[in-house]
Amino acid sequence: MIGRIPPRLSILFPNAEPIRDCANARAVDLVSSVTSASLLSRLHCRATKTRGMTIRQVVLSCPPSSRLLADCLPCIGFVATVRPMETTAALPAVSVHFTKRYSKELQEQLDRLIDRLGLASKLDSVFPQTGLQWFRFWIQSPIPAEGAALLHQLLEAVYDEDAQAYQSSGRSDYGQQADLSAFVQSLGRSVSSNIPLHVNLTAPGHTDFGWYTIFSHCPRCKAAAPVERWKRKYKDEEIECAICGAKYSPAKTHSAKRDNWELKELRDVLGQAEFEKFAARCLVAQGASETDAAQIVQKHEEGERQRREKWAKQAEASRRHQRFVEKVIYCGLENLSPRDDDEPEWLFSPEDTEEIFRRCEAHGGKVLYLSHVSESGEHDEYLQVSWPTSAKKALQKLREKGCNEKFSVTVKIPTEVVDQWEEPRGK
Ligand SMILES: [Zn+2]
Repeated sequence: MIGRIPPRLSILFPNAEPIRDCANARAVDLVSSVTSASLLSRLHCRATKTRGMTIRQVVLSCPPSSRLLADCLPCIGFVATVRPMETTAALPAVSVHFTKRYSKELQEQLDRLIDRLGLASKLDSVFPQTGLQWFRFWIQSPIPAEGAALLHQLLEAVYDEDAQAYQSSGRSDYGQQADLSAFVQSLGRSVSSNIPLHVNLTAPGHTDFGWYTIFSHCPRCKAAAPVERWKRKYKDEEIECAICGAKYSPAKTHSAKRDNWELKELRDVLGQAEFEKFAARCLVAQGASETDAAQIVQKHEEGERQRREKWAKQAEASRRHQRFVEKVIYCGLENLSPRDDDEPEWLFSPEDTEEIFRRCEAHGGKVLYLSHVSESGEHDEYLQVSWPTSAKKALQKLREKGCNEKFSVTVKIPTEVVDQWEEPRGK
């Protein structure tokens, strides 16, 4: 089992929010990261953070008696996160598309297997009733002990059936069978060693361009709310979940937050020396020799040091640019933003927005984006522009459409101009 996973080093981040405390150790949601320096990879990593790959590697490489590395990392519990949606699927039957978790095929497959295995009444005595089978298994965490064995039986049957289907059709499973296998094994370990299995079905969401968006959803079963996505504001009145019957507010379960990348990395939690020891132990547990493990860790950490240096430089350049924009381009204009994280940090009247275009042009800069923020949230607009002239046109177009409230502008000032500018003393 362990030999099937090639040695690789993933960085672990303890997430800010612990899922819950358990008797053995504090269980936290963990994410796996990539070693690439590119922002895109980081975004991708964030979007797929609950895939549970890292957990699988830690859990499967640990003998049951070792208390899941609790001796060296008290905050790692026994967590498996199930994410049958969007970009990565932990279960093959649910495939890569979000809508598949609501699919007839999945429902039919689960109904059929439950019937064949005679599990219906036993499942009913443990798991809540839901309109679609899939959602009922992840409402309670940890999974009740009597439920884990039943679920193990059911998902093992799903795995077998899907394995046959993939084999006979010759289609690729895109690694989903391996994920399901790992999850079934985790369930098995949970049952045989009597370790509670914490699960968390991820709410529907998306990370992109520095924003972390969670769509309105039922907080109990995590089914998506029947509302349009990508709006800034939603109705607060409670609706009834079509899947589990819980009542909830679409407004309260929607959020869009700035994604500031301030995840605390395991390296920072443990300290460099302890992190390196821990990483080497993980690699050895996955089958690497001690020498190889030491080399992989050394190489990886050297790359990480370079990446951090490069990022620090980029971050400083971006801070300088922002200071210039705030102190020169926005100088003396009234900021209409309530600064509550719901709206952009800087918002201006239509007249001041035109002034920003003029100043931007005077400093050789470009307007990249223009957005309109409305009080009701019903008239929000976001436009990509490239030159001050077309920015003016874009603004004019928006105003003709009745967008006359608050505007936010994204500009790019040439680096030479920012570098030449010196902040006044006593800023
Ligand atoms: Zn629900």
